[in-house]
Amino acid sequence: MKPDIVVTAKPFSWLQEMFDADFCCHNLSGISDPSAFLKSLPHKTRGLASFASTPVDAQLMELLPDLEIIANFGVGVDNIDLDAARTRRIIVTNTPDVLNDCVADAAMALVLNTLRKFSQAEMHLRAGKWASNGAYPLTTSLSGKTLGILGLGRIGSAIARRAEAFGMSIRYHNRSRREVVYPYDASLLTLAKNSDVLMIVAPGGRETDRIVNSDVLDALGPSGFLVNIARGSLVDEPVLLKYLQEKRIAGAGLDVYATEPRVPPEFFTLDNAVLFPHVGSATLETRTAMGKLQIENLRLHFSGKVVATRVE
Ligand code: NAP
Repeated sequence: MKPDIVVTAKPFSWLQEMFDADFCCHNLSGISDPSAFLKSLPHKTRGLASFASTPVDAQLMELLPDLEIIANFGVGVDNIDLDAARTRRIIVTNTPDVLNDCVADAAMALVLNTLRKFSQAEMHLRAGKWASNGAYPLTTSLSGKTLGILGLGRIGSAIARRAEAFGMSIRYHNRSRREVVYPYDASLLTLAKNSDVLMIVAPGGRETDRIVNSDVLDALGPSGFLVNIARGSLVDEPVLLKYLQEKRIAGAGLDVYATEPRVPPEFFTLDNAVLFPHVGSATLETRTAMGKLQIENLRLHFSGKVVATRVE
């Protein structure tokens, strides 16, 4: 008999087919009373497949007394109450590494678009303004600029390699210094002071909640750019909006938002912001690799083996 698993969101159809091949899936998407639904499940449910868009809190875990494993689709696990999982000895897995290149590509696309304003320049052409108003205004070069990376981990390192190829200098801040050639700044504030472009790629969660605040944006200054490819929770969004409106920083490139998919409409009117709809890992190749790894972790666990990518 296939193991029963709960799936917290509606996956892509190809991923659902992959799930269905190995598991008996109970999908929470569209269920108005998850408590009644989970209590009515016919068999013990030992696995849960989660997605970044859906929280897995202690309450949900309590509704699944036999839960042994939460397999997340995505590397960030800030959607999961890790303390509650630890208390219950529930294994949590994620999908690291397979998405590094795609997310780093998206991060560089944000850097390029934010400094060079390619999106806005194309709109200038499409609106017929090139012929009527003349050339698009001059923008800012990447080469020779310093990219400060908050979170020089797997994705941060892939971004650093790409940015070096664009002629940028790299520096970084993590909680701990790494054995790398890039200069280390002991605080986020110092990193912001030393950077032309501040790249946010540290995990979301309690410890990093709104750490990009007015002090950090002041340190970045009116010629500095912010790029956030991590999680919206790391940035004090109303403060960022104010700083962009008042041109107290030069611009921002965002892939993630505090309450996505809802984005404050005030951002849409800004000429100094480039806004992506959380597409960091959104290619067919990468999402397929993430799905395979998510399923592989469930398969390994249900066959009594050690999972491939356990969190912590
Ligand atoms: P990772 O390899 O664990 O790297 C995270 C880095 O952040 C580490 O170098 C870590 O170093 C540093 N860090 C952690 N907590 C910190 C803190 N409080 N202050 C300063 N630095 C801190 O993770 P990853 O695989 O690169 O992924 C990073 C994040 O990217 C994920 O958590 C996820 O939220 C986000 N992401 C976004 C997308 C997207 O589509 N936009 C896609 C994938 C991932 P120390 O431990 O030394 O502090």
